[in-house]
Amino acid sequence: VVQAPPQVGATATHPPFDVHAVRRDFPILQERVNGRQLVWFDNAATTHKPQAVIDRLAHFYAHENSNIHRAAHALAARATDAYEGARETVRRFIGAASVEEIVFVRGTTEAVNLVAKSWGAKNIGEGDEIIVSHLEHHANIVPWQQLAAEKGAKLRVIPVDDSGQVILEAYQRLLNSRTKLVSVTQVSNALGTVVPVQEIVDIAHRHGVRTLVDGAQSVSHLRVDMQALDTDFFVFSGHKIFGPTGIGVVYGKREVLEDMPPWQGGGNMIADVTFERTVFHAPPTRFEAGTGNIADAVGLAAALEYVERIGIENIGRYEHALLDYATQHMRPIPGVRLVGTARDKASVLSFVLDGYGTGEVGQALNQEGIAVRTGHHCAQPILRRFGLEATVRPSLAFYNTCEEVDRMVKVVRQLAGKRR
Ligand code: PLP
Repeated sequence: VVQAPPQVGATATHPPFDVHAVRRDFPILQERVNGRQLVWFDNAATTHKPQAVIDRLAHFYAHENSNIHRAAHALAARATDAYEGARETVRRFIGAASVEEIVFVRGTTEAVNLVAKSWGAKNIGEGDEIIVSHLEHHANIVPWQQLAAEKGAKLRVIPVDDSGQVILEAYQRLLNSRTKLVSVTQVSNALGTVVPVQEIVDIAHRHGVRTLVDGAQSVSHLRVDMQALDTDFFVFSGHKIFGPTGIGVVYGKREVLEDMPPWQGGGNMIADVTFERTVFHAPPTRFEAGTGNIADAVGLAAALEYVERIGIENIGRYEHALLDYATQHMRPIPGVRLVGTARDKASVLSFVLDGYGTGEVGQALNQEGIAVRTGHHCAQPILRRFGLEATVRPSLAFYNTCEEVDRMVKVVRQLAGKRR
């Protein structure tokens, strides 16, 4: 019998969350690994796809597949409608003001690179400063480092405290007249820290500084609303929110995108070309050179609609209880050190176990059919802040259960009991 986390039930405003019904929507959760039913605790790396997404992709290729040039023929019209409909679904999901603010890219990495190569190249100059936090994924460090090296600009880093939360007072002290951009993650992929991005954006804007929020790890766990957050850019990947790989989003405020040059040239993004000059389309098409990932944009929309049907608040509440449950059961195991203990966390439970390399723990879990990530999680600076090169990182999603957590705890407890 699968235990339900304690405080997850019906309230006046929310129906009960039925994890068993949700699990039936994800066929891969029935896979067996080493003779055991798969436990997928690698959700921060990528998430699984509900049948609705798999069916939507199959339907697109069976009935709608075409390049997107609406006027040419019937299938072109279907594909164009599906692709532009997906843009509208993304707009609604993140509360953007208009579809012109939604640019499709390959994922978060490409999204940050787009902003660095286009907005950054135009707006960052010698001596300017870009602020990131110590928690960033390499995708939100390296493009800024490259830009800084090119332009003679500087990268400044918001420090974190021992719980893995950013220190807002230190952030305020970093801001000065040379600061041009603050680019921070909303949820840390390595520690699970939920960063107070609303405060960070508000403070930046009071200084006239633009902001980018990396939503790769946040959109699948908590509601994001561009109207409330008011960030200039917001980026995320489809595959981390139950959608396909190879599709992601740059949200940019309309007036900001309109003032940005294209970052790639080619077909689709142009209004008119002669050998003497090219007139570019307005955003978002200006930033979508060549044939985009049409089917996967449509698949992403199906994933977002699925999340809307379950309700992101229901998802967040259930996951929060599950993370509490996992934390309470992992913390007392002798030799376990939890890394990242901020009060506000989502999904991630990074740890190391005395006497074992992280790879050994990962392999022992895999033997029991439990998938976790081990290593540096593409976030070396934050692990080194805690004196580590690697952690074991279970990361939870709303289709995980307390029983699965129990299976992980049992393996770690057994290893701890045999500690060398
Ligand atoms: N930012 C964060 C916080 C992430 O967790 C990840 C992926 O793990 C990325 C950026 C990069 O995403 P992608 O590999 O989908 O481009």
